[in-house]
This record gives sequence, C-alpha cells and structure tokens, in this order.
Amino acid sequence: MSDLPAVERVDSAVYTVPTDAPEADGTAAWDSTTLVLVTVRCGEVTGLGYTYAPAAAARTVDDLLAPAVTGLSALDVPRANEAMQRAVRNAGLPGIAAEAVSAVDIALWDAKARLLGLPLVDLLGAARDEVPVYGSGGFTTYDAERQDRQLRGWVAEEGIPRVKIKIGESWGSREAHDLARVARARASIGDAAELYVDANGGYGAKQAVRVAAGLDGEGVTWFEEPVSSDHLDALAAVRGRVMADVTAGEYGYTLPYFRHMLAAGAVDCLQADVTRCGGITVWLRVAALALSHGLEISGHCAPAAHAHAAASVPNLRHLEWFHDHVRIERLLFDGAPSPRGGALVPGRDGSPGLGLRLDAERARPFRIS
Ligand SMILES: [Mg+2]
Repeated sequence: MSDLPAVERVDSAVYTVPTDAPEADGTAAWDSTTLVLVTVRCGEVTGLGYTYAPAAAARTVDDLLAPAVTGLSALDVPRANEAMQRAVRNAGLPGIAAEAVSAVDIALWDAKARLLGLPLVDLLGAARDEVPVYGSGGFTTYDAERQDRQLRGWVAEEGIPRVKIKIGESWGSREAHDLARVARARASIGDAAELYVDANGGYGAKQAVRVAAGLDGEGVTWFEEPVSSDHLDALAAVRGRVMADVTAGEYGYTLPYFRHMLAAGAVDCLQADVTRCGGITVWLRVAALALSHGLEISGHCAPAAHAHAAASVPNLRHLEWFHDHVRIERLLFDGAPSPRGGALVPGRDGSPGLGLRLDAERARPFRIS
C-alpha cells in the first residue's frame, strides 16, 4: 500500500452563517454560527472535515497542525492524530486546538475512504445500518408558535420520534416558564414521541431535582446538563435522584475527560462531539470507554460529520439533529444527509468518504477568511 499518497497539503477556510432567528439556551445566546472547514490534499483526492469553532481554530490548523501532518501517509490517520496532539502541547489541547485537531482528523478519514473508494462507514466497519436522530432546537428565544412549528415539523412531517428543547432559561431563573414550555412541547408532539430537555448547566443541583419532578409529569426521559458538566459530583448527585437519564459530555476535548466523567458515575448516557473531542479517531475511543461502563453514546450536533462513525459503534443511542447545524450543512455541502423514519443510513448511496462536497458557489457569501 506504500504507493498510496501522502498528505500533500492542508488548508482551512472559515464560514459564518447567521441564524434564521435569535437563539439562546440556558446559559448562552447567539445570532450566527461559525464553521471552520479543513481540506486535505492526498494525490488525486481531497478530504473534507470541519468543526464549529471560532476562526482561531483555522489559524491553529494553518500554523500548528498542517506542518505536523504534511508528508505523513494518508492511510495512517491515528499516527497523524497523535502528531497533531503532540504539536499543540504548549498551545493547550482542550478547546480550540482540539476543535482544530478534530476538523483535520475528520478530513483525513474522509480522504482515506476516498482513496480506497469506500463510504467511510465501510472503511470503519458498520455495527448497524441505521443511526437514529433526535430533533434538537426549541431555543428559549422561540415563542410558543415557533416552538410548536419546529417540533411538529420533526415529529409529524419528518417522522423523527424524539425531540429536545432548551430549558434553564436565563441561568435557571425562569423555572415556571421552562416547565410551561415543556408542557407545550409535549402537547405539540403527542404522547408517543420521546421528549428531551437540555439545561446547558443552567440550574443548581437541588433546583435541578425540583425541576425534574415537573419534567416527570410530561414524560421527559433525557435531562441534559441539569447542572454544569464541570461539576461531576453535582451531576452524579442529580443523576441519583431523578427519573430521566442524566447526560453530558459535549465539552469533552480529551479522552481522559470522558474517563473522569464515567468514573464519577455522572451520566446515564455519554455524549461526545466528533468535532471537538479529537475527531473520529478519538470519538471511537470514547464510544469504547462508554461501552466498558455499560453505557451508550450519543453524538452531539454536527450530524453530517458524525453519521458514519456513529454507524460503526455498537452502543450508539442516537445522534443530535441540531437545527443550526442541519441548516448550515445543507447550505454548504452537497450530499448532507437527511433522515428517513427518524434515522440516517450513512453510506447507502455508495458515495466515498463522508459523501459531502462543498458547494463553493453557495458557500462563498458566508466565507470570512
Ligand atoms: Mg447540550
């Protein structure tokens, strides 16, 4: 296989896409989303990866990561991942550097699959055909009509039988309003669909337990970041006292982060984000860690980047079909996936790699560097 190409060059580009309405969760608000795109050139093939991160991640790719992986075999993705992690030692891996590493890692996996002419899921090896998704949005900035329209769209029109809304509004200061919105969400989707909530760490521990009692009445089965995922003891304490599954992990940038979270007994289902945790290489290791604790993993956001990896792990629960990212991936990429019957089937059409192609024409107005 030594005649297969090396990584010849690595390039970055940055796109900022305005949201279609003001958006907020319990602890943050935003009106645009930035995607850092990475392309790697290996012979006749170009691999594509990305992360949702500040433009500084692109600078990290250009200055620190491109020199670390250029010239390495395009087949040896774990070797390149390790070289990148070493290259950012003094910059600090957790955060922007890990997002940059993730984008390059995803591009390298895409390139390798393209070199071999395989959908990425076939290169990784499938553990399942279907990747269940859950509709995710329900921002605290939405009025009742917009929330209702979004949730009905997923459940009634697209056939996705699970949805998630944001609660913990204004750092947990609007509990009654949170519960009223959850009740409206249940009314919108009916009794059959699963209803999830995400507080983004907006509540205190005792407050989260009180809120959970209200959530039980609406049949909420997923309570994401009821308290900050920085506080594993508090997360574990809440987990021990509520009915819904407690989940976290979206801010995991290193493998040991997930080990600590699991060792603390902090979650019922581990979340991990392939565009943050170190790419597909590390995401698969995180899934194995979860499996070793008898737990499932759920992919956080960036559905087009997760789909193939998600299909390759046996302990997948589902993948987040996040409103913003679905919109951006459909805008920027040809080949962005769409669920049928509430699930993606990555690789079905036989397209090599992730099956994505940048639509440069559509993307151009959003490019900022
Ligand atoms: Mg979340």
